[in-house]
Amino acid sequence: MHHFRYAGPNLHCESVDLAEIARLYGTPTYVYSAATMADNYTRLANGLAGLDLQICYAMKANSSLAILRHFANLGAAFDLVSGGEVRRVLAAGANIKSSVFAGVGKTEAEIKLALENGIFAFHVESEPEIARINHVAGKLGVKAPIAIRINPDVDAHTHAKITTGKSDNKFGIPLTQAAAAYEAAARYPNILIKGAQMHIGSQLTSLAPFVEAVKKVAPFVAELKAKYGITYWSIGGGIGIIYKDALASGDPAWWSAQPAETRPLTPEAYGEALKPLLAPLGLKILLEPGRYLVGNAGVLLTRVEFLKRGKGKSFLIVDAAMNDLVRPAMYDSYHEIVPLRRDSTRAALTADVVGPVCESGDCFAKDRTLQEVGEGEFIALMSAGAYGFTMSSRYNTRNLTAEVLVQGAASDLINVRETFEQQIQNEKLPAFLTK
Ligand SMILES: *Cc1c(COP(=O)(O)O)cnc(C)c1O
Repeated sequence: MHHFRYAGPNLHCESVDLAEIARLYGTPTYVYSAATMADNYTRLANGLAGLDLQICYAMKANSSLAILRHFANLGAAFDLVSGGEVRRVLAAGANIKSSVFAGVGKTEAEIKLALENGIFAFHVESEPEIARINHVAGKLGVKAPIAIRINPDVDAHTHAKITTGKSDNKFGIPLTQAAAAYEAAARYPNILIKGAQMHIGSQLTSLAPFVEAVKKVAPFVAELKAKYGITYWSIGGGIGIIYKDALASGDPAWWSAQPAETRPLTPEAYGEALKPLLAPLGLKILLEPGRYLVGNAGVLLTRVEFLKRGKGKSFLIVDAAMNDLVRPAMYDSYHEIVPLRRDSTRAALTADVVGPVCESGDCFAKDRTLQEVGEGEFIALMSAGAYGFTMSSRYNTRNLTAEVLVQGAASDLINVRETFEQQIQNEKLPAFLTK
């Protein structure tokens, strides 16, 4: 469910007309709905009510300071993956003490920064990393809390680039070797074994892999509790969102109309299936949702530059590009595309929706049918709140886009569009070229 819908002919985010935003702040611009994020958070928390639960928002999905603050206000902590993300949590005025630090390549400086700020735990992915954390903790004279990421070797049935819980990818320690890894960790003097972790992949749209992974790893987690007194288990993130029927899925009626066998994953179903498996462990449970919390809460607004009609093929050329939203180029992902002003008298148009960047991969959609739109009109790419802005680049010397947050009838810029001067401010012409 989300808060993007047509009021009359105009697409709104909550009570705000998106075309007004596009005119006010220009395009391309990301727009996020605070109410949608809050609903997503609350539904998931309620779905697992009764457990000792901490939601750690996987902030790599969307790490704008305002969004971090919004989730912190709701009670979230963070799953973070770099020193930069540690500093973002601090800059947002959010509490880092319930947050966890993941990732396969933590540097000494990052470990130090996290320890100095009282990180809840490091989620470690290899034995050399435990040695490094032990070393840094020793220098600081503290004990570093850790959980080992266990790779359960289940198939998440998602895109290869976002599968993480199979034995042939770089993440975690296989379940069969995890006992030895914990034994090794226990021998380090500056390491405090505090929990266990897993994360099997992203954009999972069925319950089965989550259930399979929890069932597979739970007995080992119970052993860890008995042996080391661990206090928590993080079962990761990965809950998928709706991309195909993105707009329709904002309407409760759409959900009721889905047949039970094919109904997309809901936070209620996730909670119902996992709670009975998790409760008997008597542990604090961490969740690390990223995409689920923000994905359907954001759209990318873009302006039509040209409609180029070809012989067999037409191209709708827009002012957003793969540098602003790389998911279609990187993951072949689908984003629904809708006009900001609906007009039933217009003909349908089938076209490739493309950006201006000099790459054939700069294509948001192939042979997409939508209402005919022309130069100067606006369209929205739906479900762009996760892995959108955070993955953007400056390719083709394009400035990073603006971001706007809406709450009810209020809206404000949370990230001002970058300028060309900002983009080149760290560049220099060396003396040997200019003399
Ligand atoms: C990326 C990531 C997440 C979040 O994944 P989503 O699919 O966005 O929910 C959670 N935990 C870890 C360890 C991750 O790397």
